[in-house]
Amino acid sequence: MRVGRRGFLHAALAAATGTLSAARPLWAYAARNGGVPSELAACSGSGQRVDLAAADVKDLRASLRGPLLLAQDPGYDDARLLWLRGYDRHPALIVRAIDAADVGRAIDFARTHGLLTAVRGGGHSLAGQSVCEGGLTIDLSLMSAVEVDAQRRLASVQGGVLLGEVDRKTQAVGLATTMGTATDTGIAGLTLGGGMGRLMRSIGLACDNLASVDIVTADGKLTRASEVENRDLFWGVRGGGGNFGVVTTFEYRLHRLAHPVLSGARIYPYSEAHRVLAAATEVAERAPDALTLGVDLVNNAPPSTERPGRYAVLTVFHCGDPRDGERLLEPLKRLGAPLHDSVAAVSYLDAQGAVGTAPVAVPRTVSEYTRTGFLPGMSAVLLDELVRRFAATPPSLDCGLELAQMGGAVARVAPSATAYWNRHAAYDLMLFGDWTDGQSAQANTQALDTLWSAVEPFTRGYYVNTAPAEDGARVRATYGENYQRLVRLKKTYDPGNLFSLNANIPPSPPSTTR
Ligand code: FAD
Repeated sequence: MRVGRRGFLHAALAAATGTLSAARPLWAYAARNGGVPSELAACSGSGQRVDLAAADVKDLRASLRGPLLLAQDPGYDDARLLWLRGYDRHPALIVRAIDAADVGRAIDFARTHGLLTAVRGGGHSLAGQSVCEGGLTIDLSLMSAVEVDAQRRLASVQGGVLLGEVDRKTQAVGLATTMGTATDTGIAGLTLGGGMGRLMRSIGLACDNLASVDIVTADGKLTRASEVENRDLFWGVRGGGGNFGVVTTFEYRLHRLAHPVLSGARIYPYSEAHRVLAAATEVAERAPDALTLGVDLVNNAPPSTERPGRYAVLTVFHCGDPRDGERLLEPLKRLGAPLHDSVAAVSYLDAQGAVGTAPVAVPRTVSEYTRTGFLPGMSAVLLDELVRRFAATPPSLDCGLELAQMGGAVARVAPSATAYWNRHAAYDLMLFGDWTDGQSAQANTQALDTLWSAVEPFTRGYYVNTAPAEDGARVRATYGENYQRLVRLKKTYDPGNLFSLNANIPPSPPSTTR
């Protein structure tokens, strides 16, 4: 999964915080008062200015075990930056929580003062929603403990952990659970929105493997939710994103995985794209859960990549016996020799770190364009559209269209069993584009919009983690029949919509809240 960014969030937040740009110097220049400016201008959830008294801020600082960072404090600039460096926001306060009690105090402070509140786990938000302009950011990155109980096959993971650490600690004892495909993604945001990864077709989404969560809700109280405690809340956190509180600890069920897996990518010239997509989807439709296929149509624009040009890339993962995986891939031999083939038996850890193993360059820039949607299946018409429309994108535009196989164990959970609704999607489709030169932005956006408007009608719902700042109508549609239950839960656990920087489920009808 590639990197993206949604421009509309910028617009929404700029609107919400517009009053603050003039006020920002207050926290830069106001007289210091025991390390706290005498006046601290912050931003409310509805975009109004909030003046915080120095005494209140000092009390908050004194109550915390972890650091409270204000604009002048060392470490503030590092703490406010996300993985996507393009989000240049300045929270009035950053609470770097050490434990659930710190999280509770930060939530109490935010609620009491009506502050715009962001929650940061691993900082990989594609919409930049885990940092806010002028409000309070609750940063969990210091909460980084992972404890594996190999006997009970459970891992207890704090909310600031990056997924590579879970893979490393669980693989050390021959166990694994579903995590995403980029090792530096946070487990928190990933799991709460669903959590897709190489193992999902065998053992379900990351959220399907949750045994329990410890969560601090908007009232500042720490609560445990599981199949036996607060079941409704447990239902909601499995796919409902960060709407209901701050999860301080995730407990995952683990599965045995101690043998090599078959993993890698095969790169074909774009002239073969139609055949690659047709063959891959044909094999995918008959595939056992152990096999997951994907096809990426990519245009690597020179000079930013090692391998400029347009390609069709087949991605392969098989978590059973690698020889069985090879047999399942035999029908793909009719595609002829690829330009490059990295499919091989490797350790699961190698497969999880495999981003750099294929020679398709993955620029570490901020993506300028992302659109995503689930596909119920593949048809000849859609296949033609994908190949033809992608070929029409400008050669100078770094872009990609990724088709990732879903199904298997993901689809065997009833849509109403957890908040994650789109269980019957056959594929997840993602279009992205990168550019740094502002002059080409309009033409690039137009080219990608043209492509997306042709393929979007084939989609049904979308993955909230890839476009968390979508508008209310799209969020409602993607939660389907689960939406009303989510609204009821929101009213119970976050009636004031303190946790609004997410694929938001407002506690009241949208007309009165947004
Ligand atoms: P953050 O930026 O820290 O948080 C994102 C949002 O999650 C926050 O705005 C907040 O609403 C919520 N949140 C975070 N922590 C908490 C918490 N402790 N309690 C409550 N709410 C919280 N997704 C997949 O499913 N599979 C993939 O393979 C995958 N690959 C990716 C690769 C890259 C390079 C990137 C950038 C993203 C990828 N994603 C993938 C999307 C990913 O799931 C989301 O970006 C996710 O939000 C990242 O979680 P995080 O904790 O790092 O995010």
